Parts: sequence; C-alpha cells; structure tokens
Amino acid sequence: MDSIHLRIPGPTPIPPRIQQAMLAPMIGHRSGEFKRLYAEVTAQLPPLFGTRQRVLVLTASGTAALEAAAVNAVAPGEEVIVVVTGAFGDRFAAICERYGLITRRLEVAWGEAADPDRLRAFLRQHPKAKAVFLTYCETSTGVLNPVAELARVVREESEALVIVDGVSAIGGAPCEMDSWGLDIVVTGSQKALMLPPGLALVAVSERAWQAIEANPAPRFYLDLLAYRKAAEEASSPYTPAVSLFFGLREALAMIEEETLDAAVARHALLRDMTRAAIKALGLPLLADDAAASPTVTAVGPFDGSVLDPEALRACLRKRHGLVLAGGQKKLKGRIFRIGHMGWCAPFDILAVIAALETGLAELGYPVALGKGVQAAQEVYVRHVSRAHHGSAV
Ligand SMILES: *Cc1c(COP(=O)(O)O)cnc(C)c1O
Repeated sequence: MDSIHLRIPGPTPIPPRIQQAMLAPMIGHRSGEFKRLYAEVTAQLPPLFGTRQRVLVLTASGTAALEAAAVNAVAPGEEVIVVVTGAFGDRFAAICERYGLITRRLEVAWGEAADPDRLRAFLRQHPKAKAVFLTYCETSTGVLNPVAELARVVREESEALVIVDGVSAIGGAPCEMDSWGLDIVVTGSQKALMLPPGLALVAVSERAWQAIEANPAPRFYLDLLAYRKAAEEASSPYTPAVSLFFGLREALAMIEEETLDAAVARHALLRDMTRAAIKALGLPLLADDAAASPTVTAVGPFDGSVLDPEALRACLRKRHGLVLAGGQKKLKGRIFRIGHMGWCAPFDILAVIAALETGLAELGYPVALGKGVQAAQEVYVRHVSRAHHGSAV
C-alpha cells in the first residue's frame, strides 16, 4: 500500500503546486531575489492573523515560536498565567517553568474549553501576572478556545500581555489579532498553511514590542528584535529555509485564490461534516459542539469500550493507507484524532469516513455501513444549497 492519506493534525498533505514551487533552484539569502521573495511573502501574512503588524518568520518548528514568545516577552522571576486545556497548553507552561518564570497554571479538564469567568477570578488571584498564555486550538483535544473572550477578560482585569499559540488555528480558524487585543500570536508552517514543517511565524503587537525592548533576559537565535531589524531590510538574521519560502509564496497564492474567508468557512464545513458522521456512527466526541475546532476532531474516549482506538488506527494505516493520530499524554490510547486542516476538501472527509466505517467493520465493531458517510453528505448538501440560495437558510 503506497498510497498514503495523511489526516493527522500536522504535518498535513502538501498540494502538488506547493511541492513543485519548493523545487526551484537555490538562491542566495542575501540576494535581491530573496529580498523580493521575502517582501512579497511578508506583505501577505498579516491578514491571516488579522493584524496590521509585521509577521516575523523564523526557521524553526512551532515550539520554537512558543519559546520565542516566552523568552522575549517576560523575564525570569516574573509571574505569568498559562491556561492549560491540553498537551499544548501544558507545553507552554513547561517552557515558562524551564525559563524560571513564576508560572500559574489554570488547569481546565481536557476536552473542555477555557471559561472566561474562571480566568477572570484567576487573574484577580494573581494580579502581578505579566502575561497570559493561551492556546487557540488545543490540538490534543480538538477544542477551540474562545480567545477573543479570554483576551477581553485579560484586558479588563490587567495590563498583562496576551500570548496565543495559534499553531493549529491560523489559516483554518478566524483570527482578529488587533481587534481581539492579542499581543503575540504564533503559528507553524505544517498545519493549516499546507507546507512542510520548518517555518515558525510570529506576530507581535506594539505593546508587546515595548515589553520585548525592555526585557534584559538573554536570547540569541530566538531574539525577536534581531528578526525585526532584519525584516526592515526584507531579510532574515540567519540563513532561512529558502525552499520553504518558495513554498510559502505558493501557499499564500492558493489562499488568496480561494480567499481567506472561504478557507475559514471550508474548515468549519469540514468540522461539521466530520462531527455529523461520528455522531451518526454512535461514536463519542471529546469536545462539545460549541467548543469544537474547525481543524481537528478528537473521537473518544473509548475507556471501557470494546473499541481499541490504537487497533483501529493500525488497521486503517495498514489496509487503507489512512493515517489518523492517536491521543497525547493522558489521552494516549484512549482517543483518535482526525486532522482536517490545510489541503483538505469535503471529498477527503467523505473518504476518511468511508474508510473509518470499513475499518470498524473489519475489526468486528457493529457499524451501519454508509451511515456516517450519509450524515456527512447531508451536511455538505445543506451547505452548498444554502450557498446557492444566497443568505437564505
Ligand atoms: C503542532 C502544534 C505546535 C507546534 O509543534 P511543533 O512540533 O514544534 O511544530 C504547537 N502548538 C500547537 C497547538 C500545535 O498544534
């Protein structure tokens, strides 16, 4: 079986035209050609974040962007709040702890979204917090946290910076960094941006720049001031992943052709199709409808069920070439996750659900074949008929 269908929440499949663009012959990173490429790409990035600020591009994975946010915005010994809704919030807190920040974790049950009222009370308990770290899409649970509301609460209660992990959200979920009052928003190339891993994108507000300029804490490769200085000359302080820049230009062209609004609407449709199918098959969903992410769906937990999600994933991988993700940390072995971000169409969801039904039947799990596919098709058909009839529902 050499046909692989990668439906994990990153890395995601690469469209052929992006793959092709990345084959362009190498150019010098100090050349005029690269400067033009850099300028073109960085001019198109801010709308993805909903900002008028410059977006910096680091050659690194998404975690480096999380680390860059933490080391630049706050200094050791300062107090921060980290809202932990799953494995990625946990990672944000671990980074803060490692750098000697006084880290106050607001722990939320995995599978639930953070509650703005709880955050308000927590801010009142910790009035000295210099920054609040949020995860927009908690990839480990398939929850989309209400970052706009959470940021509003932070602004009402304190002067703390709002720092957001948008890695599995940017490009697939709406983001209005400036009007929501977010100070740092980061993402990585291998999620909704349809690129291979290797680029980390960081958007920084005026307020955050002031904190970064005043911050004496040492940093070198991740010093955002170096990236800002180089960006003023359409350049990168160290050798960037030039081929990924070629790919990024093509990815941004694809998003422009589809339009960002349409891409965001498509991700919502993919979420609705996936969830309707899972419900029709009688399988549990980890997150409620109101908290469900448009980019990844967590199915489970299967505690006490005859269905072993690891056996199901192995069957789908081996017999159908479909790669789904398992659970992380405390959800390991208890759930499976379907990634539907980036280069993913309604057709792909129908194929994933059809394979899933087949795999369940192969494992002897009682399943009404076609029921999930039908539910997903119905969501799709309702969506397109609404679109054809204008705004009428
Ligand atoms: C993928 C992901 C990351 C970054 O992971 P890397 O492996 O370092 O690229 C960070 N946060 C979230 C929410 C993610 O989904």
